[in-house]
Amino acid sequence: MELNLVMLGPPGAGKGTQARQLRRKWNIPHISTGAMLRDAVQAGTPLGREVAAIMEGGGLISDDVITHVVVERLAHPDTNGGFLLDGYPRTIPQAEALDRMLSGRAPLVVVEIVLSEADVVRRLASRMVCAECGANAIGEGPACHDCGGPLVPRADDREQVVLNRLKVYRDQTEPLISYYGNRSTYCRIDGARLPDDVTADIIKAVERHR
Ligand code: AMP
Repeated sequence: MELNLVMLGPPGAGKGTQARQLRRKWNIPHISTGAMLRDAVQAGTPLGREVAAIMEGGGLISDDVITHVVVERLAHPDTNGGFLLDGYPRTIPQAEALDRMLSGRAPLVVVEIVLSEADVVRRLASRMVCAECGANAIGEGPACHDCGGPLVPRADDREQVVLNRLKVYRDQTEPLISYYGNRSTYCRIDGARLPDDVTADIIKAVERHR
């Protein structure tokens, strides 16, 4: 059965880490808009050149640009059985666009991972990411768990940028909690625990709500 999942939560809540586990469980593609944009920046495509400076400062790229990227990605047949969106939507207009994209498909299941700002700042200060595959690593080293690639800090995890990303989250993304909150498919998960415990809770909640 088609499973269309959205991960919500502040930067550092564990959306990417959880999505990497969950895609294996349900065999659906993990679609991270942040990872797609970082790839575009690295490859120097026109999209990458357009968004590089905004990403570096922790701001959001325009709703139209990112929605176009997602429309194209969701048209790919590998999403026929569902998908796991990580990092989109981040604004109300994006959420409205996603609802339009999904008309006629299975209803969205929204998973909010809850983490305090103090925990976010602490986590991102020590986060490393794999330069090869993009996997997150906190308190590991020196090589990636998944592929053995080298671990490096993420350019937008510098403290000043993290504070800006948190402000952007509060102002632009947090309103999505009310946008989705009263849907019967909304799940709230405590993210301040070991990753495996968070994964187990998400699986239970999603199986109940789908
Ligand atoms: P993430 O990896 O999800 O933290 O995304 C990294 C950066 O990519 C963000 O700080 C934004 O600059 C940009 N980005 C990713 N997804 C979106 C989106 N849905 N809307 C606007 N900007 C985005």
